[in-house]
Amino acid sequence: MSEAIQSDLSVVALAGGVGGARLVDGLHRALPQGALTVVVNTGDDFQHWGLHISPDLDTVMYTLAGLSPEDRGWGIEGDTFHVLAEAERRGVDDWFQLGDRDLLTHLTRTGALARGDSLTRVTAELCRTLGVDRPILPMTDAPRPTRMVTQGGDDLVFQEWLVKLRAPAVREVRHEGTHEATSEVLKALDAADLVVICPSNPYVSINPILTLDGIADRIRSTTSVAVSPIVGGKAVKGPLATMLPEISGREPSAEAVAMHYEGLLDGYAVHPGDSFEGSVPLLETNILIQSKEDRVLFASELLEFARSL
Ligand code: GDP
Ligand code: CA
Repeated sequence: MSEAIQSDLSVVALAGGVGGARLVDGLHRALPQGALTVVVNTGDDFQHWGLHISPDLDTVMYTLAGLSPEDRGWGIEGDTFHVLAEAERRGVDDWFQLGDRDLLTHLTRTGALARGDSLTRVTAELCRTLGVDRPILPMTDAPRPTRMVTQGGDDLVFQEWLVKLRAPAVREVRHEGTHEATSEVLKALDAADLVVICPSNPYVSINPILTLDGIADRIRSTTSVAVSPIVGGKAVKGPLATMLPEISGREPSAEAVAMHYEGLLDGYAVHPGDSFEGSVPLLETNILIQSKEDRVLFASELLEFARSL
């Protein structure tokens, strides 16, 4: 690895929404132009008001464009919600919040897809108009919806489970639809010196990517590091801490997430106090990366750690 990770280093980051976007933002600042490609989960994509919504792509795009709010993981800072208020007034489905400025993204995407453009191409175009100059690739161009089977036996679309019903206890997570990653994603992984698995939810953000054909094999043959989304036994955000015991039977911990990625990793980053006796080298440092300063500091440390593997 030490030879490869120099100035010509090529890094592929696998990301979901919030945890993914935070690390991607740090990597984006810590790496030279052209060195980073982001592969984003599309298992959360769904249709709402006739629009194609890609929550994780949007979170990553808005974060890199500097448009994300500080206090919530979706949408655009300072956005207004006139359309949503009108939906509420007219009794139209209003459980999913869409801001007025944010709506342009969904309208543009839906229109371009209807004209036959691929999601990869639409995403590149959206990035261009938002001034984001790093490649952001959807994991696939075809639908691959994540479905949540609850312990009560309901079989739900991901956003409905998370947003509408507020994450009831899960029995199983299923990935439906295509098994094919895009050729752009496979090419980026073939050219990568390092794969970074962001501190995203392993079940609903990273697994949809990992279980596509050819992805896990490519990760095994490349130096790969992951960052724990669990700090001190708790998820920094979202339902992961309850999902871990529900799905794996293990208590929520950085170690439980590492066990989930068994066989894929060459290194793993945990928060101070979360280290454990495992089979891969650990980087024990501050992995709480809410602020921009912490993001770039941690991303630089992570790259340094990867160089040493
Ligand atoms: P989502 O699609 O918005 O749920 O986003 P992700 O799957 O990418 O991120 C959710 C995960 O990110 C949660 O399990 C959080 O614990 C984790 N996360 C969020 N912020 C941070 C952070 O600052 N540091 C770390 N290590 N994990 C984080
Ligand atoms: Ca997501």
